[in-house]
Amino acid sequence: MINIQDVTKIFSSKMGDVVALHELNMQIPDNKFVLIKGPSGCGKSTLLFTLGGLLKPSSGQVKVLGKEPFNMEEKERTAFLSSQVGFVFQSYHLIPYLTVLENILFSKNAGNKDVSEEQAQTLAEELNITDRLKHYPSELSIGEKQRVALARALIVKPELILADEPTGNLDPENTQVVLDHLRKFQQSGGSVVMVSHGNEADHLADCIISMKKGKITNIRTN
Ligand code: ADP
Ligand code: MG
Repeated sequence: MINIQDVTKIFSSKMGDVVALHELNMQIPDNKFVLIKGPSGCGKSTLLFTLGGLLKPSSGQVKVLGKEPFNMEEKERTAFLSSQVGFVFQSYHLIPYLTVLENILFSKNAGNKDVSEEQAQTLAEELNITDRLKHYPSELSIGEKQRVALARALIVKPELILADEPTGNLDPENTQVVLDHLRKFQQSGGSVVMVSHGNEADHLADCIISMKKGKITNIRTN
């Protein structure tokens, strides 16, 4: 369950304050595929990072998987997030000086979960990147990079995957691969919250949250 109450996020800068999230409330049961949609700048990424315990709201409560990440000690929060929450970003965030295999294994021993090279091999087969395991990110196509990022998120078997426009740079074929795997993850018991500004995942979503200017304007349950 994700539960946020009166969440406001204000970014302060020399140019003045930006209210990125304005008194948001929502409750999402476990094991759903949730889509957050809205125009660029409406606060989608801010909301996702807040849900994922990475960005502390200026005010309000965030509860994820029964825990309140912002009320935890930093060490506890890191252990919780790295073992229970997987992140996938539009720009992959692969580590350039590690090979594909090393990138996939990067979250090895996160929390209390041991991750084996064998599991990495199995995931690589499923995601069709086996012949790239010894390559470096700069040698990969865009679609391959995103499949590696997905493998890295899936390998710790998190409870929740947060994906920020994971198909934003992909061709239709790779978009399908990424969506299929997110769907499969959810069908095997996980929860997915995905941000998108397109319609490619609408048909998969149990719930579509629409945002505008830092506010939730509509929640549609399919
Ligand atoms: P989206 O993901 O929907 O495109 P964001 O969540 O990235 O939107 O941003 C929401 C608003 O907050 C935007 O107006 C953006 O410029 C602003 N913003 C995001 N991050 C920062 C930051 N670190 N400092 C200042 N403003 C920010
Ligand atoms: Mg964004």
